[in-house]
Amino acid sequence: MTTLVAPVADLLVRQRAYWNTGATHSLEFRLAQLKALREAILTYQADIIDAARQDLGRPEFEACFEIGTIGELDYVIKHLPRWVKHRKVSLSLSQKPGSAWVQPEPLGVVLIIGPWNYPFQLIISPLMGAIAAGNCAILKPSELAPATSKVLARLVEATFDPAHVALVEGGVDTAQALLAERFDHVLFTGGERVGKLVMQAAAQHLTPVTLELGGKSPCIVDVDVNVEVAARRIVWGKFLNAGQTCIAPDYLLVDERVKAELVTALQQRIVECYGENPAENPDLSRVLNDCQFDRLVGLLNQGNILAGGEHDRSDRYIAPTLIDSVSWDDPIMQEEIFGPILPILTYRSLDEAIATLRQRPKPLALYLFSRDRQVQTQVLDRTTAGSVCINDVILQVAVWNLPFGGVGSSGIGRYHGQHSFDTFSNLKSVLKKPFWMDVDWRYPPYEGKVKQFRKLIGLS
Ligand code: NAD
Repeated sequence: MTTLVAPVADLLVRQRAYWNTGATHSLEFRLAQLKALREAILTYQADIIDAARQDLGRPEFEACFEIGTIGELDYVIKHLPRWVKHRKVSLSLSQKPGSAWVQPEPLGVVLIIGPWNYPFQLIISPLMGAIAAGNCAILKPSELAPATSKVLARLVEATFDPAHVALVEGGVDTAQALLAERFDHVLFTGGERVGKLVMQAAAQHLTPVTLELGGKSPCIVDVDVNVEVAARRIVWGKFLNAGQTCIAPDYLLVDERVKAELVTALQQRIVECYGENPAENPDLSRVLNDCQFDRLVGLLNQGNILAGGEHDRSDRYIAPTLIDSVSWDDPIMQEEIFGPILPILTYRSLDEAIATLRQRPKPLALYLFSRDRQVQTQVLDRTTAGSVCINDVILQVAVWNLPFGGVGSSGIGRYHGQHSFDTFSNLKSVLKKPFWMDVDWRYPPYEGKVKQFRKLIGLS
């Protein structure tokens, strides 16, 4: 396929041979590698922050989110000794005497492909799960965040034996060359279109996949809210990283009775955060590249701009923007926005809002602002999403023991914390029987045993 096929194949052979030695399996080895990763992140932290600035114009505060993945690493290091243990399960009467348990074991050699928007974190977070579960791993970061890709390459080379963890830099060709090989698991983070290609390629080897995709995450604002606090949280979550966050609220769905008050609060909050001229504000990230910039500016032609709208291609700057008067058929409501533009739609009744959401693809995240417990219950019980956060945004991603992932077109599978460990493990089922009792009921000849068997399995 490409000139990369041979080296990639060689790397795989090397990793598979290493995995087969069993060197990666012990708890001591896994913990030592995780601790080495922790040290490496601390050693390279200035480079990681600088790379996020180069790739995405990130302010230092937001660049630190990349390093914030160390919080998950500490959580994994702390709990791994418990996760690796056998998980005992009870036996029914018909299976006794005996014992049964789930025995997690490493899968083998896994592939992790990352996106550009949180380019460090979204390689390192899956990697810690892969190492914790005792696997070898090949990493392919996004070519669209080249400075971060280089730092990651240096960090991985300086920290790991390439037979255990290796990083391959490159773009689509490299990803395709990797995907042509047989891995034991592929964890992909990126868009829906490429996610389908990854799944197709993996299917050739029957390789299981975890697909962490995107989509349009709604944010419902009920009438029973603290408008000021809701506006603070929404503005933060939406304009963080210039809206290039997979779980950012994509659009607002607001009870029409609270819209005017909310819009005023959002407008004020944007000024408080980013000043009268956000172009000069150091706390606003930039759009990734010209292609993304042009796509986003194209979305500004719809509806009625309530705040922002200014943009400058030479700086890939788009002001934090609020838009209303858009319809579900407009392009802005058809594609994932993934930029600093927030459409505001309204609803008359919660039933109407829920019915609207139920017609749309299942989102990665859903946000609800409401103090009303009945509203909370209605939304939780009658809508679906990979994750829900009530009265805040984004923060659910940093609860390490909550499984993270999508549903339907927003993804397949879960990771973070123990869910990463389980994703990268074969949860092997084991049943162990003693010799000391061997009742005759299951063996032929069956004559005269049907009644006894039916009773045993609960049939009359
Ligand atoms: P992308 O799908 O374009 O690229 C992701 C990775 O796939 C990159 O490493 C890229 O090199 C590789 N790739 C691109 N084309 C390929 C092909 N034809 N075959 C194989 N590999 C290919 O995604 P992106 O633009 O980097 O990221 C943005 C998307 O990722 C958004 O949709 C966002 O919502 C989503 N995302 C999801 C999560 C999550 O956790 N669910 C997190 C971040 C981003």
